[in-house]
Amino acid sequence: MTDRDILHTMKVLAKRYARANRLPHHQALDLIASKLGFSHWKAAQRAAKGGWQPSSEQLAEVKAFAREAVPVFQELPADGDSTTFTFAGDQPPEEGKIGPHVFWIQVSLGDVHMSGEGWHIQLGEAPSAEPFVEVTERRVKSNPIHDPEFVKDALKIARAKAKDVQAHISADWDRRSTMPDAEGRARHPINKDLSKQWFCLHCDEQSTSLAITSNMWHCPSCGASPINIFSTPFWLGDDAPRDRNAARDMTFTSRKKVESEADQDSNLEIEILDTTPTLELNEKKVELLLRMALLDDAANPGERLGALLADIGVDEDNDADMCLDEDLWPEGKDPEQALKVAELLGIELELTITTGTAPFHWPGLAHHTESTVDYVSALLAAYKEYSGQ
Ligand SMILES: [Zn+2]
Repeated sequence: MTDRDILHTMKVLAKRYARANRLPHHQALDLIASKLGFSHWKAAQRAAKGGWQPSSEQLAEVKAFAREAVPVFQELPADGDSTTFTFAGDQPPEEGKIGPHVFWIQVSLGDVHMSGEGWHIQLGEAPSAEPFVEVTERRVKSNPIHDPEFVKDALKIARAKAKDVQAHISADWDRRSTMPDAEGRARHPINKDLSKQWFCLHCDEQSTSLAITSNMWHCPSCGASPINIFSTPFWLGDDAPRDRNAARDMTFTSRKKVESEADQDSNLEIEILDTTPTLELNEKKVELLLRMALLDDAANPGERLGALLADIGVDEDNDADMCLDEDLWPEGKDPEQALKVAELLGIELELTITTGTAPFHWPGLAHHTESTVDYVSALLAAYKEYSGQ
């Protein structure tokens, strides 16, 4: 990777993360940089220009981090500046074993990450969070993640770790942020509002103080982070719910769920996602690859037009037919690159000829030069001569 590639990758990841978490882009850049051990983005930029390269593990970790749209926990630091991020509980990974299987466990931005050969589990910091379990490499033989007993044991370890994180975070909070008072009021840990009812900006869910405090100020319904929880649903305007008691019923089930946390995973149907990179060819992708190859075959502006306008149809078996305009593609010229690509993809490619799709008059002009600029000047001159324009 060149330094430009590295910086570009980081920027793309930061953009994705910023969008998922509704953060300003510069904050996401700093977060990505901090994941790589830099104090801020500028430092990472300087290092990349000086030849620094992330290791493949670092890169994979940063990618996994950016891919998750789990909201960032924004802890209010002691100086009261809510725009500063602190990484509660960020520690180096610890190694452990379940039976013969080695794993690593680490807390990052409040989330627990646990991984071993070919698998990864992520647990968000809200007590109601459901685990995200994935196969990261399909070719690992006898991947323990397919064994439900192993998953259960792993989740037990991850849940215990998550509890530590929760304790660490709430230790810094006002007591009213962890336990409602006799009137059922709680204090928001970040904006310090005091209220009986709480509203989620993300899904409009209305929750009692008890429901929201027991879920670490994450929405019990959608899991949105504390920065999305407000004492008034100002975004709803006149549609705001009037019956505030309704919230008690609405959040009853989520409260129940949090209370039975100890058994949370034993009855849960855990879905295991396979995130091994896999090429899934479909109509669009086959068409795209064939057209790219056809552009390689095009020798001049006329043929490039022919490639761009070729009618490429792909059937359900991904076999394709390519229809070229005889004015734009020379008769008898085989699109060799496209045929080679079809062979690589293991699909049939049939060629046909059509006529009359050229978008401009005198299509022959496009075949007499190699440059598009020269072609366009010739085209403009021809129109001028013809119409006197
Ligand atoms: Zn919500």
